[in-house]
Amino acid sequence: MPLNNLPLTLDGPSFDEKVAIASRVSHADFSLWGGLVPGNVAALPELHARGAIAVKAFMSDSGLPEFPASDDYTLLRGMEVAASLGMIVAVHAESDAITRGLTAEARGAGQRGAMAWAASRPVLAETEAISRAIHLAEATGARLHVVHVSSGRGAVMIAEARARGVDVTSETCPHYLTFTDEDVARLGAIGKCAPPVRNAEERARLWAAVTSGAVDMVVSDHSPSPPSMKEGDDFFAMWGGIPGVQTTLGTLLEEGPAHGLDLGSIVRLVAAGPAARFGLAPSKGTISVGADADLALVDLRNRHVVSQATLHYRHPQSPFVGRTVRGLVVRTILRGEVVAEKGAPVGEPRGRLVRPVGRVAA
Ligand SMILES: [Zn+2]
Repeated sequence: MPLNNLPLTLDGPSFDEKVAIASRVSHADFSLWGGLVPGNVAALPELHARGAIAVKAFMSDSGLPEFPASDDYTLLRGMEVAASLGMIVAVHAESDAITRGLTAEARGAGQRGAMAWAASRPVLAETEAISRAIHLAEATGARLHVVHVSSGRGAVMIAEARARGVDVTSETCPHYLTFTDEDVARLGAIGKCAPPVRNAEERARLWAAVTSGAVDMVVSDHSPSPPSMKEGDDFFAMWGGIPGVQTTLGTLLEEGPAHGLDLGSIVRLVAAGPAARFGLAPSKGTISVGADADLALVDLRNRHVVSQATLHYRHPQSPFVGRTVRGLVVRTILRGEVVAEKGAPVGEPRGRLVRPVGRVAA
């Protein structure tokens, strides 16, 4: 069962079910992904027809038995079909063979710590998978997006492929820009995610890739989980995933300027970039005549320390607790109407599905 109790969107009916649930509870407009798994390539056209913005494939074990990793054959056939539809294929890029083998080695040697776990998923496992995905996208003409890139080296490979004409983009997440592997060893389970948070050298490379424009967007990859799944002292066994939807903007506003990121670049990374890539512009992601007037008013003078009390998550836990972030969203406006004031929702949920091309479903 997915952690948020929503169905995995592997075909049309499950997509419809998720739209129905989200339409009842979401205060923001939303788009949905589909999944690409062995055996569901034939469902890509119906997912595309319903408005899925992309399909995501895991190149390594997802941790969920119902969302198995895509082998190269599945990626090949999936990308062929996606290319014919103009649909984006997104990949979680870690080599299954490398991570599986190194994990078995470490487990066999009785290892269970954070550093040993990180060593079982090295940067090489990410760059090998990225290069393979790029190769397949180049051969099939598919549009490729690499989610949550953890390493500067991976981000640079993607930018180089784009420069030679491959239709590929990338995203990274604030936790990769904020923490190091040593921080995760200190933080424990709350800092575990895959690909793992890297060392300080790789983090510096990743920052350089973000500020140079090699990385297209910075996203939360918000991954909630009940505290019970983050318990124990075996780092290999505990659940991986970091919640970050509430701290992404504040982290970039706080940390970005020291790395040369100006406000305009941050807006591009969190709003304009994703909207453009996933076909949601010009209605979304821009402030312009005819756009949807989706606005977040941010008090940039505000700096505050993240605490459990300030988190609105169902499970108020985050590795960002104790860190200073900048900016407070004081008002949120959806299609011209106020939907949140000072962090509290206003009125009934009125979020709607947004399909690529940027129009909300009627
Ligand atoms: Zn992933």
